[in-house]
Amino acid sequence: MKLIYFFDEGNGKDKKLLGGKGAGLCEMTQLGLQVPPGFVITTQTCKLFFENGNKLPDGLMNEVRMSIKKLESLTGKKFGDSSKPLLVSVRSGAAISMPGMMDTILNLGLNDNTVKGLASLTKNERFAYDAYRRFVQLFGKIVLGIDDGKFAEALEDLKRKLKVKYDSEIDVKNLKNLVNEFKNLVKVSTGKSFPEDPWVQLENAIAAVFNSWNGRRAKDYRREFKITPEIADGTAVNIVTMAFGNMGNDSGTGVVFTRDPSSGERKLYGDYLPNAQGEDVVAGIRTPMPIDELQKQNPAVYKQLVDIAERLEKYFKEPQDIEFTVEQSKLFMLQTRNAKMNTVAQVKTSVDMVHENLITKERAIIRVPPEQLEQLLHKMVDPKSTAKPFATGIPASPGVATGKVVLDADQAEMQGTTGNKVILVREETKPDDIHGFFASQGILTSKGGKTSHAAVVARGMDKPCVCGASALRMDHAKKRIKVGDLIIKEGEIITIDGTNGNVYVGTVPTVQPQMGGELLELLSWADSFRKLGVRANVDDPESAFIARSLGAEGIGLCRTERMFNASDRLPIMVQMVMSEDEKTRKEYLAKLKPLQKQDFKELLKVMDGLPVTIRLLDPPLHEFLPQIETVLSQIQSLKRTEAYKEEIREKEMMLEKVKRLTEINPMLGHRGVRIGITYPEIYEMQVAAICEATAELMKEGMNPKAQIMVPQVASEKELQFVKDIVQRTKTIIEKQYNLKLPIKFGTMIEVVRGCLVADKIAEIAEFFSFGTNDLTQGTFSFSREDSENKFLPQYMKEGIILDNPFQSLDKDGVGRLMQMAIEGGKGTDPRIEIGICGEHGGDPRSIEFCSGLGLNYVSCSAYRIPIARLAAAQAAVRAK
Ligand code: ADP
Ligand code: MG
Ligand code: MG
Repeated sequence: MKLIYFFDEGNGKDKKLLGGKGAGLCEMTQLGLQVPPGFVITTQTCKLFFENGNKLPDGLMNEVRMSIKKLESLTGKKFGDSSKPLLVSVRSGAAISMPGMMDTILNLGLNDNTVKGLASLTKNERFAYDAYRRFVQLFGKIVLGIDDGKFAEALEDLKRKLKVKYDSEIDVKNLKNLVNEFKNLVKVSTGKSFPEDPWVQLENAIAAVFNSWNGRRAKDYRREFKITPEIADGTAVNIVTMAFGNMGNDSGTGVVFTRDPSSGERKLYGDYLPNAQGEDVVAGIRTPMPIDELQKQNPAVYKQLVDIAERLEKYFKEPQDIEFTVEQSKLFMLQTRNAKMNTVAQVKTSVDMVHENLITKERAIIRVPPEQLEQLLHKMVDPKSTAKPFATGIPASPGVATGKVVLDADQAEMQGTTGNKVILVREETKPDDIHGFFASQGILTSKGGKTSHAAVVARGMDKPCVCGASALRMDHAKKRIKVGDLIIKEGEIITIDGTNGNVYVGTVPTVQPQMGGELLELLSWADSFRKLGVRANVDDPESAFIARSLGAEGIGLCRTERMFNASDRLPIMVQMVMSEDEKTRKEYLAKLKPLQKQDFKELLKVMDGLPVTIRLLDPPLHEFLPQIETVLSQIQSLKRTEAYKEEIREKEMMLEKVKRLTEINPMLGHRGVRIGITYPEIYEMQVAAICEATAELMKEGMNPKAQIMVPQVASEKELQFVKDIVQRTKTIIEKQYNLKLPIKFGTMIEVVRGCLVADKIAEIAEFFSFGTNDLTQGTFSFSREDSENKFLPQYMKEGIILDNPFQSLDKDGVGRLMQMAIEGGKGTDPRIEIGICGEHGGDPRSIEFCSGLGLNYVSCSAYRIPIARLAAAQAAVRAK
């Protein structure tokens, strides 16, 4: 097995083997860009390392020695040489980029001898010792596991003593002392001297990078983002000749995106830090300058960078996130990867790249994760709000977040996981803070720029982030932050706006944004590809209006019971339920009918010309009555007053009724079509309301398309019973209005038996709509409510169930039943309309499955309509 690939020989398409970073370095080298010479030790070697009991596999170091020899001849430098020393970085890199998850060691190969060589070679002693102290610190931290804080403290102490602000202001003499101090720290902490032998350094560093794959941070990250071994299995190690960005003011280091990762705008975007080495930008230790400044400082380098950005985009057909270093005005490329962008940018770049002929419309559709579209419909600070920000930082990840101030990641986790909304406020963040990000609504830092750790990670999680709010002063001892005279204690509420960088005290009013031009364009392309229709689950005209404006092609589910719960109807509904005979029941139903008719008319009006699927009453009747305990306590307090005999009697009757109606298994009891059969007058009223609403709208010249849908049907005989009611009622109303009513009749398919006898049901129904919530519950024989907070998490942890079946359709079980129902239904009536109205109708993976089953449409809540449109298009594109 080949363990090592040089950048000019590795296959840059094989990220799995070379890791993303190694693959990118190979691609750039082979494209002819200036990359410092280097090689990749494969991810397979990492697996061998773990199989070998966390030891480097036999023969590896031999190959490494040979590879270093080759580097020596490529660079004219020598590893461990005191006159022309070769220095390298040792960098991790797995198949997918995990920002900040694993550690990189810079300047490896330095020791008391080689540092002198570096100094004389570069004629810059200060630079050499600066590199040396960085190396001792990184090596101490990453390889020897010494607390980084100790090094940082020593450095801060020194700067305080020298009264300087930046590392770059420390002179040679003091740097030399610092190196010695750092080495002392190593000796005190580990009991051993710092290893001077570069080969020992290298061997240990490689092992440390491999080990970092199984460090806590890396594991947490993989768990959170569901990175399985199929996606990434082990890290590669990249050994790269050092390029020095800290050789003076004509040197520096930077990170750029080829397009703005927040807005998607096509222009170089990022940070540059003169006279600095890699980690300085990423760690947000010094606040860097915007990349535009480089154009003034070094126009030639800037121009090269712009050209390279364009070449890389043309090659990868994706916006890139690039790391580079300028060594004495010479540009070196150190990393390229597909840029992580927020949703706004993802949508805009998709559309722009199609217009630039860089990608196809299909690709544009595929590259936007549907789930994320929801954010585009999310709130921003109300432009009319008069709230004044108390601080402003760099807008690093858009969106508004409100929460209690917490000053460290552990606290954030503790508060956040117990249901508190928190904002993590730090000077800067480090990879060790990652658990705090998960638990927070948003992130605020006082240092660092748009490519700081906080910004990158927050964007990846799509959490609002403001960084570099330099007016903020942290006071960890007193657990508070200060901005001028303003003091904000931990636990107080603040609001951050990652779209413009503003920070406010307390909560600030927000508004819903409109869909932007690019999103509309992308969705119109999606519509041209998708085969599935998209309808909405809505019950009221307002939501129907929103749904239609978001692209709904009808209503797939209107739950009529929700209409009965409005305050002007509930009392009548209660009376209706309380009625002891059909005659009284009909009296109350007669009062409800005009209200229902009005509801349906409004809904049909908003959806004029589009199908509106109305489900007849579904829940058990006792749900409209108060709970037993409530009635009991009402009776008791009435009895205490002794005044209202009549009222007490009424309540006692109610208690009787509630007791009688209460069921042992309400979800499996007297509900759905069973109510329609025992109390036909209820369905009769609803059907009449639908028919009359339709007739009246037709008289007004509209085009209402109601579809009557029956819930919980398990047998064709049940459905026939209801169909008779519908036909009777419809005939009467058609005569009355002298009209033919174009109302379809169909059924939910949501009980297991319904799936099994779908062929017979299809003789009666004109359409099916899968109610996958109940169908999932029935198939597994457990309910969402009980499973999700009792055993489902453990089932998922043990891998017994891979995905929550209430979120993502269980293809093997529920999906199989659906398939049978479709076969049965279509066998009887090939043109039968089949849709889905369970919550799965808004879940992209379930939508893909439904598309494969050949359903006519999915139906989901209003705000998920754009998601469903895109997901349906992706399914169609993938199927091609
Ligand atoms: P990460 O995965 O955290 O980005 P990297 O391996 O990219 O880690 O390295 C961290 C920093 O060090 C980056 O800014 C990178 O550009 C810089 N760096 C890595 N290797 C070299 C090198 N050979 N010369 C100069 N800078 C380097
Ligand atoms: Mg890093
Ligand atoms: Mg990097």
